[in-house]
Amino acid sequence: MTETKAIRGRLLWFVDDPETAGDAAHRHVEDGVIVIVDGLIEAVGEASILLPTLPADAAIVDHRPHLIMPGFIDAHLHLPQTQVIASYGAQLMEWLAKFTFVEEQKCAGPAHARKLARFFLNELLASGTTTAAIYCSVHVASVEALFTESQARNTRMIAGKVMMDRNAPAALTDTADTAYADSKALIARWHGRGRQLYAISPRFVVTSTPEQMAAAGRLAAEHPQCHVQTHINENRAEIAFANELYPEPGDYAGIYQHFGLLGARSLMGHCIHMTDREWRRFAQAGAVAVFCPTSNLFLGSGLFDWARAKAEGVPVAVATDIGGGTSYSMLRTMAEAYKVLQLQGQSLSAFAALHAITRGNAKALKLDHLVGSLEPGHEADLVVLDPAATRVMAHRLETARDLAEELFVLVTLGDERNVAATYVMGERIDADREPSPQPSTPPVLANSR
Ligand SMILES: [Zn+2]
Repeated sequence: MTETKAIRGRLLWFVDDPETAGDAAHRHVEDGVIVIVDGLIEAVGEASILLPTLPADAAIVDHRPHLIMPGFIDAHLHLPQTQVIASYGAQLMEWLAKFTFVEEQKCAGPAHARKLARFFLNELLASGTTTAAIYCSVHVASVEALFTESQARNTRMIAGKVMMDRNAPAALTDTADTAYADSKALIARWHGRGRQLYAISPRFVVTSTPEQMAAAGRLAAEHPQCHVQTHINENRAEIAFANELYPEPGDYAGIYQHFGLLGARSLMGHCIHMTDREWRRFAQAGAVAVFCPTSNLFLGSGLFDWARAKAEGVPVAVATDIGGGTSYSMLRTMAEAYKVLQLQGQSLSAFAALHAITRGNAKALKLDHLVGSLEPGHEADLVVLDPAATRVMAHRLETARDLAEELFVLVTLGDERNVAATYVMGERIDADREPSPQPSTPPVLANSR
């Protein structure tokens, strides 16, 4: 049976990139309605025009005066690191050995993996994030837990099993063959099931032998519809180690390229210390640079050069990188992104920041035909925001003169406290309540291009 509902409030979404299209990039409707039929957006526009067109039995939820946007998208974070966040005093390589590799071992147990997956997805939804690209641990159980919980919430998530066969504790290593076979089986089981999507996930070149890198490349070639996610050029010591292990290609990006892992669906975490040749390799491949500001600051990794990426024609996504990152909130993430850019003489308007965490990330993840905007046909994943949720923000907004200023306050001071509600496929999610198992949803074609 068809179910129609309407969600009313102040609407904001993007139809283009504010950096190139200016004010024509966004749509703002002061009293708007999103009409949702069976979880998909049917129509968007002025309440005065759309409300009279609704069937008599349509449910109407009124969120005025709150701001309704497409659900936020996080392009890179780690499920096993929910209890690694805020670990003191180390940079990348030491941080991995001392904190991360210790915690990740616990994910071998399905009960622990399940506990983390529940916490993690609830926290993302409470922060208004409805889609994310997620690294699970090396254990198949962690991927099963994540996808099972995502399926129960009907969220669109991208996730994969980390591949690691050296330079990590024995309990965290697979082999080239088992990583290939396990990933392949997980792709068959989960990719395209409901809203779930698989990412082939070699952690980084330091923790993979050439045999495993080749196996990852084989998976990518055999499953061109899947994403590839990995790390690159985050930290000087890491880069030196990577180039020592793989001297032939001449640079870090060349290593991934050599193994067939640098393509248009490759989500390359960090990209801080890039050479000219590496920027060119990215641009030619169409690979995505994933900017993780809170993580880059917390681990002292360095400053991502967004202007350079733009000048090189390299697509950029933004991400929290939990648990190197320090907040699940994409608003907080963009506040730190602004500061990272300010340190380099660059700026980031509120429109550009909000575009980045909705339509921008959707485009970078090749999901912009499904999520990231409020266009008819899109999946109705929404975040409802109260820009005056805190005393400081309410006080500051008394002097805001226009939308740009209001949104800049939201991006600079905002976090999960500003999230009044989150909707997944038109259903309001209560992050404090465990979902009841969903009937299997009809698969939505994710890879029509
Ligand atoms: Zn990461």
